[in-house]
Amino acid sequence: GYRKGGYHAVRPGDHFAAGRYVAQRKLGWGNFSTVWLAFDVQSQKFVALKIQKSAPEFAQAALHEIEFLSEITTRNPSNCKCTIQLIDHFKHTGPNGQHICLVFEFLGDSLLKLVQYNRYKGIGFRHLKLENILLVSTIDPSKDPIRSGLQPNLERPEGNPNGEVVLNPIEKKLKMRARRVLAKLAEKRKSAAEYARAERSLDGIDMACKIVDFGNACWADNQFTDFIQTRQYRAPEVILGSGYSFPVDMWSFACIAFELATGEMLFTPKEGQGYSEDEDHLALMMEVLGKIPKKIATNGTKSKEYFDRHGDLKRIRRLKFSSVERVLVDKYKIPESDAQEFADFLCPLFDFAPEKRPTAAQCLQHKWLQCNDDKTCGTLNITDAKNVGVACSTGNAVGSDSKSI
Ligand code: ADP
Ligand code: MG
Repeated sequence: GYRKGGYHAVRPGDHFAAGRYVAQRKLGWGNFSTVWLAFDVQSQKFVALKIQKSAPEFAQAALHEIEFLSEITTRNPSNCKCTIQLIDHFKHTGPNGQHICLVFEFLGDSLLKLVQYNRYKGIGFRHLKLENILLVSTIDPSKDPIRSGLQPNLERPEGNPNGEVVLNPIEKKLKMRARRVLAKLAEKRKSAAEYARAERSLDGIDMACKIVDFGNACWADNQFTDFIQTRQYRAPEVILGSGYSFPVDMWSFACIAFELATGEMLFTPKEGQGYSEDEDHLALMMEVLGKIPKKIATNGTKSKEYFDRHGDLKRIRRLKFSSVERVLVDKYKIPESDAQEFADFLCPLFDFAPEKRPTAAQCLQHKWLQCNDDKTCGTLNITDAKNVGVACSTGNAVGSDSKSI
């Protein structure tokens, strides 16, 4: 927390970078930082000010994030559309040490918040990475009473801080989904307050998404660790120690798509009596996706720990097989035909053979993402597609450049 090496305590009205940025209110926080809405006196715009913890390992992660972000946009300027834009960075010294500060364009709520309106009972574990996908908000924080907190006597910028945004098919799907969630809430006559809150979360949001938090992102050709991805979105090849590349992002993406549709994570492995979290994870995967082919199961550096020579899990013997489609229908009451189409979209992404998973570009061609009601759908270009891949495991995204798709 707020101690030497840790977070920097901020109060609304605090100044940064010799008075250029004025803190307004806290937007969020993570393991590495606190993020504040700030007013940029120079550009007369609202920005998000990420103030990193001060200990060396956090400073290093911040420098990495700066380098990574500037590199993705230099390698391919159209990446700006899907990734957070870094505006400025500087150092700020406070009682807990020297903090690297990153200044970003200001975005809206995370998908996590949106999904929480659709949650099923008994969920309390969502500290996950949907929090790193933010919706582009068209709300002017100075006009919305909930989002305001603007210090008096500050000049207010004009109009929408983010401008026009173009939606890609995934974002459209999300928006449609969100509308359906609202309709469902209304149907169930959830409390008026909850309904109002949900509606507010959509208000002024056009559902364009951007990815934040590249603190642990890596380039495909420069993998600095074997240990990647948020647990629940982790691909089998990572668990098995078989090496990894872009396809891990497609796996994560499928997990996130499932979660957005159902409000629950598909895989939530737990350590049990006589087996590890990894083994439970592999068992859960096989229960919905079928057995891992023996060749794949047995060729990782960790394979011997989990599998016998027949390709069966050593310590979890009895699996209850189902399928993605069955789960969608039976557990989440999604109508058969919707479930079938959605499962048809997801299953190829959940191929145990990473090289067989569709690429992000191929994934966008799937009919589940093609909407007939809007002609702009077809105009999507390939640079968008690759960012769908990067989107999946934010925080640990495997970076791609324009050559890779
Ligand atoms: P950490 O590296 O500490 O996890 P993040 O970059 O993920 O930090 O930011 C923490 C939280 O701050 C996010 O989950 C989000 O809620 C909020 N946040 C980050 N960037 C922005 C932004 N540009 N606009 C609005 N909120 C943001
Ligand atoms: Mg984060």
